[in-house]
Formats: sequence, structure tokens, C-alpha cells
Amino acid sequence: MEKVQLKYGNSTIHYDLEYANRKTLGIKVHPDKTVQVIAPLGSDPEKVKEKVYSKAAWIMKQQDFFLSFEPQTPPRKYISGETHLYLGKQYRLKLETSTKESVKLQGGNITVYLKDTTNSKRVKTLMAKWYKEKAKNHFEKLFSESLTITKGYYNNEPELKYRWMDKRWGSCDKKGTIHLNLELIKAPKQCIEYVIIHEICHINHLNHSTAFYNQLEKIFPDWKKVKDRLEKIMV
Ligand SMILES: [Zn+2]
Repeated sequence: MEKVQLKYGNSTIHYDLEYANRKTLGIKVHPDKTVQVIAPLGSDPEKVKEKVYSKAAWIMKQQDFFLSFEPQTPPRKYISGETHLYLGKQYRLKLETSTKESVKLQGGNITVYLKDTTNSKRVKTLMAKWYKEKAKNHFEKLFSESLTITKGYYNNEPELKYRWMDKRWGSCDKKGTIHLNLELIKAPKQCIEYVIIHEICHINHLNHSTAFYNQLEKIFPDWKKVKDRLEKIMV
């Protein structure tokens, strides 16, 4: 495998070039945005480059699609009165002095109890812990529901993991492990379900091919609307 760079306007496309016993050039844009080019054995690398160049707009469109999965929540200051999302609803952050640290959902507020309410770093840590606990319950429940809906589309039951991620709502690796971004606990349940099902569809289709969308549409016909909602609510 060879790493190649290609200038296209102001952008640079990086791709992994491989040769295989095939007749035509294949280009794959993977969910992690890497580009794989498979050329027929004995092809001239310059000719390959020209062909990839002619497909550059398409490649970037595919990559953009993945970019749109980026959480766009503006940075929070973790001060009283600020709004924070939980399962698609906005809550007001309330900070209360207490010797015992805790986070509670009360009416329209997320109340954080802590010793020093001016310690925004501590507020952030406590909230992240709280979100993670909530995510554990909701993600697991939604995941097991999604497994029922998608039965027949996987051989080995996928496994669920979650963590804070910077650039992705979710991912699915070749072993069928699905990682969800903990940020998703801020989105409506329907959106979390969409991301889970989207990732489950990647078990059969590692890229965003027509076959991928056909499967997604079959399982989750409303996906476009829900994807839109996810991108709007997280702003
Ligand atoms: Zn995807």
C-alpha cells in the first residue's frame, strides 16, 4: 500500500493506493474519511492519479457527509442560567452550594450541587459524569431495541461501547463493535436510535454506498428527517 497526496483546488486528498487483480479502478471512502484506491495490477500511478482527480468532487462530497456528524454544540461556561441539552430538551443549569456533590434533574433545571459554585471545571466534570450515567441506561435500552429491529441484518450480535468523541456521532468497526458518542445523550431518543441503526447498517456496508442507503431506508424510513433534526438541535 502506498500513501498518495492529491491537490484539488484548495484541498488535499490523501489516499491509500493498492493494486489488485481487477479490471477497473475502485475508490472507497470509508466512514473514518480515509480514501482507498484499488487499481488494476500494472497501472501507471500517474494515470491513476488523473482518474482519482476526476472523482475528487465525489470523494469530497462523501467525506463531507461524515463531517456533518460532528457535534456542533458551542462551548459552555458551566455557569448558572446557561442552557444545557438532555435527550433533546433544553434545561437551565442551576448551581447550588452543598458539601455533598450531586447532579439532579428538577423541573426545567439541571441542578449541580457542589462546594464551590464558581469552580466551573468541577461543574463540567460532575455534569459529564451525570451525562455518562444517563447515557449508559438510555443507550443500552435503545441499542437492544435497535438489535430487535435490525435482526437478520447481522450474523454476530453487535457490541455497544460509548465514549466522548470529537468528530463523530458513532462508528462501527469490522468486528461489529459500535461506538456511540456520549454527546448523543443530549439529542432526542429518535436521533440516538437513528445513529445506532446507521452504524448497524455499516456491518454489511462499510461505506455509504447505495446499498447502504437502501438498507437504512428499509429499516428506518424516516432517517433523513431525523438526521436533520439531530444536526439542528445540536447547534
Ligand atoms: Zn456512516
